[in-house]
Amino acid sequence: MKCSICGKKLKREEIYYGDVCTYYEGKPLCESCYFENEPVAIVYYGKDETPYIISEVRNETAGDFTVRWKSIDPWRGYYESKSEKYVLVNTAELLAYHQSEEILKKFDERIRELFDEYGIDYARVLTRSSNVFCQNYDLYVRENWALLGKILVEKVKTEVDYSNPKWYRNIIFDENALIKLAEFFPEKKIKTDYDAFELMKELGENVVDELKRRMKEYKRNSARR
Ligand SMILES: [Zn+2]
Repeated sequence: MKCSICGKKLKREEIYYGDVCTYYEGKPLCESCYFENEPVAIVYYGKDETPYIISEVRNETAGDFTVRWKSIDPWRGYYESKSEKYVLVNTAELLAYHQSEEILKKFDERIRELFDEYGIDYARVLTRSSNVFCQNYDLYVRENWALLGKILVEKVKTEVDYSNPKWYRNIIFDENALIKLAEFFPEKKIKTDYDAFELMKELGENVVDELKRRMKEYKRNSARR
């Protein structure tokens, strides 16, 4: 028999098989492909700091959680988590070195405090994507806690000002859109989604007309230069 990943020839006593609920479920594997396959998700149960790993060959959650690759295009994609025992109550993108990190940290601390207070059985699932700086943070509660879990999530979001666009950059508006807006409205000094949002609010219904006017003006000015 051969290893399904690296093709190494295997003796009967050397064979490992892919865990249930994984991509290589039941397929023969060599020792290193079985143990050294990179994790695609890490699960933390409640207060327990032990990481339970899910890779394409192993599933240390014994099927509590499974992951599936979702491709956006041939080069990009992410792993999506699923569970039959737990219910998803929130999902967030964890962007390294990003302003939103701060608010997610606050959210995470506070929601776990409340979940513990109410004795709610919860799990956090961190999944990988093709972007090394971006992970997904999925928060799950045990099925019977779904309603209370969701209510508490909303409560904490309000408490920590979670949805305020000032925490986000390049999520609603991408970098190019922000640069363009900054050019069209130089006096507004637009740097983040929040600034862009404030501008939209200020302009209200006139936003499209004003934008058109600014674009024309900008073109005229750059032609003159
Ligand atoms: Zn192998």
